[in-house]
Order: sequence, then C-alpha cells, then structure tokens
Amino acid sequence: MTRPVIGIFGGTFNPVHVGHVRAAIEVAEALSLAAVEFVPAARPPHKNGEPVLDFPLRLKLCRLALDGLSGFSVNTMEADRPGPSYTRDTLASLGRARPDEDFCFILGMGDLLSLPTWKDGLRLGRLAHLAVHAREGLGLEHFGHFLAARAADMEAAPTADPAVWELPGGRRLTFVPVARLDVSSSDIRDRWRCGRRIHGLVGEAVRHELETHAAAVTAGWSRPVPA
Ligand code: ATP
Repeated sequence: MTRPVIGIFGGTFNPVHVGHVRAAIEVAEALSLAAVEFVPAARPPHKNGEPVLDFPLRLKLCRLALDGLSGFSVNTMEADRPGPSYTRDTLASLGRARPDEDFCFILGMGDLLSLPTWKDGLRLGRLAHLAVHAREGLGLEHFGHFLAARAADMEAAPTADPAVWELPGGRRLTFVPVARLDVSSSDIRDRWRCGRRIHGLVGEAVRHELETHAAAVTAGWSRPVPA
C-alpha cells in the first residue's frame, strides 16, 4: 500500500488570495495528493520589511478561503515555534510528528529560483517531495535551467520526463503547469492602501472579513515593521 502524500503549502498569506487557492487545487489534482495543508508563516523570514497582518487574522483568512474545500485545511504549527519560520524546520518537524505520512512541499517557480537564499533551501528534497508550479510566466524552461545549474546541490537526478526529477530517498521534484492568475498579496495590499476594490482577487468571505476589520487591516498594512 502506498503512503498518503500530504501537500504542504507554505506562505505568508498576507492576505491569502485566489492565486494561492487555484495553484494548490491544481497541484493536488495533478499529483493526486491525499490532502493539502496551508501553513502560514508566523514570522516570515523572506519578506523584506513589508508590513504583515497579525498571525491570527492571516490564519482566519486562510480558514475562510478554504471553507467548503474538502481535503484542504490550515495547519497552525508555525505559531508555536519561536524565531523565524524556516521551511526546513517545518518539514523536519512534520516528518518527526507524522511518520506514517509523506509530505510534498508546494512552491511557486519564483520561490524555487530563490531557494539558494533559504535556510538549507537546496536540501529541502531530503525532507519532502517538492512540487513547483508555474508562476508569472516562469515555466518548465526556467525549471530546467535552474536544475541544470543546481542539480548537484539539490541531489536531483533527471528522468526521461523534463518535469520530473528524482530526489534522495525515492522522493520527487515535479514541475506542475497551473492556470496563470497574476494575483499577488502585494498587489492586493497596494490596492487596499489606495482605497481600490479587491473583489475577485480574494474570495468573498476573505474580502468580507478584511472589510469587517478594515481599521486593523489598514493599520496592519501601513505600520512600520519592528526591527
Ligand atoms: P507577496 O506579493 O506579498 O510577495 P504572494 O502573493 O507571492 O505574496 P505568498 O504568501 O508569498 O504570496 O506565497 C505563498 C506561495 O504561493 C508561494 O509559493 C507563491 O509562489 C505562491 N503564489 C502566490 N501567488 C500566486 C499566484 N497568483 N499563482 C500561483 N502561485 C502563487
């Protein structure tokens, strides 16, 4: 019997938007994942001083975005860990806590290209399968170029399929083409600050929650980031 593979979709989700939800659904369908867990970073290490909404609100928005989507849930594990939320620590602790499951970390192409700057980023394939989805026009060609340069660091070996590479321990690194939705959290924050509408960029329940807490959201997205 093959073990279930759980998709782990990490992000800041500041806020969660339709691009996140669609990409996760398409990866789950393409790779037959048993379930997908969104894992919001409590203290995101990569966000260059951008103001971030409080963790409980980002969590609630993720729950609203996934409401009614069977097999999709929000995992709050990063709340409990002190210090920056490093993906390698998340994947390592998932492996220790749930030895009967396999995990597949889901990330966009832009994030694959930045893996060398993550803590042990090129070693994530020792902890989980990796699923990389197209984003912002970055596709299979960029995936191939990245791996041509980084295969040794990632301990990745090509297969006959240019979208699939072998990783240590029988794991796989797979490129998944997904429908292109040019939505980003930063664009949503910019629109919000200008008083423009965000309908259609986030789910209706998410938009309603943001508007219910409008003062806190505006303050959250404009306050200086603590050093
Ligand atoms: P920001 O604009 O603040 O940088 P973001 O929109 O990229 O944020 P994150 O929370 O940083 O959102 O992203 C989490 C994951 O979702 C990343 O792997 C990212 O590549 C992916 N992602 C974000 N937006 C999209 C989108 N429109 N389509 C597909 N994947 C996306």
